[in-house]
Amino acid sequence: MIEVAFSTGDRPPLIPASIYALGRNYAEHAREMEADPEPVVFIMPRTALRPGGGRIRRPEGCSLVHHEVEVVLALGIGGSRLSAREADDAIAGLAIGVDLTARDIQARAKEKRHPWARSKGFAGAAPISALAPWAPWKRRWKEIDLHLSVCGTRRQSGTLGQAILSPVETVMQLSRWFELEAGDLIFTGTPAGVGPIQPGEPCVAKSLALGMEVAFELWVP
Ligand code: MN
Repeated sequence: MIEVAFSTGDRPPLIPASIYALGRNYAEHAREMEADPEPVVFIMPRTALRPGGGRIRRPEGCSLVHHEVEVVLALGIGGSRLSAREADDAIAGLAIGVDLTARDIQARAKEKRHPWARSKGFAGAAPISALAPWAPWKRRWKEIDLHLSVCGTRRQSGTLGQAILSPVETVMQLSRWFELEAGDLIFTGTPAGVGPIQPGEPCVAKSLALGMEVAFELWVP
């Protein structure tokens, strides 16, 4: 069973329910993808999650995987049409994660106006750290930093304050479109600087504020 641990030992691990992911939630990244900076949402299967990272097999038919470092929200309470207060109360924790994207498969899907599922949902497409509690960040979430390095070189760097939707706005908006439940995880989008990673290159996603990181590398059979 896939579980995501809390960094503080006093909480049981989160059993993931649905996994939502925002695209285009950082204007700079939307521009680098030549897309409008208006958040979109997609869904990943739970088997895409890879708590603790490790070795991730590059999917078949893909020769170009991009890294997208993201802050991930974990819900302890669900519901529909949540108020700001309810959305704030629903967030239980935060992690640092990566939305690995089979960019070549996604580009072909975009051309044909097909869904992104194959490019975003392969096994291990979403390495994720342990969860930090949300409570200390309720008023300071803009300071949460996120970084990604490949072979020790920094490729992406940003803060959650650069995102278009705040964590509470994200949960409120998703709760209008979907019925959320405890255990849901929400990847909140990536800052600028996405790029390719090659098999065998050591990658680390981290947040100094959250004190969380996850290391991973791609492999091909
Ligand atoms: Mn993403």
